[in-house]
Amino acid sequence: MSNNLDQLYRSVIMDHYKKPRNKGKLEGSNVAIEMNNPTCGDRIHLTLQVEDNIVTDAKFEGEGCSISMSSASMMTQMIKGKTTEEAVGLADVFSNMMLGNEHDEDLDLGDVEALSGVAQFPARIKCATLAWKAMQKGINEK
Ligand code: ZN
Repeated sequence: MSNNLDQLYRSVIMDHYKKPRNKGKLEGSNVAIEMNNPTCGDRIHLTLQVEDNIVTDAKFEGEGCSISMSSASMMTQMIKGKTTEEAVGLADVFSNMMLGNEHDEDLDLGDVEALSGVAQFPARIKCATLAWKAMQKGINEK
């Protein structure tokens, strides 16, 4: 990865970490799930509003490292307005991106692309995927 791209990705991650989007708790949400990543101490509490299979709103609370918190911010931003199927599918795409598996590279992931570099640091992959796993589990168990 070039230094410029690395720099750009770093600033996108720090922007989400310092100014998290969709931080908080949705009152009356119909999906609520808590998940931890004990290896790093990251914790997320995710609340979603799902209506007619569309994720109409999403918020998260939690604490942890910049990777886990920025990933949660990006994830909530990305899934709003998506169908539950699309949201769960995005979690698969993200997980494959982190694990270096084949995935649809033409898909525009927006800010989420900034986390692609985390794939080079195996110890941090669980930080990046925490929010996505919580979302996937929450929707699947709904
Ligand atoms: Zn972490």
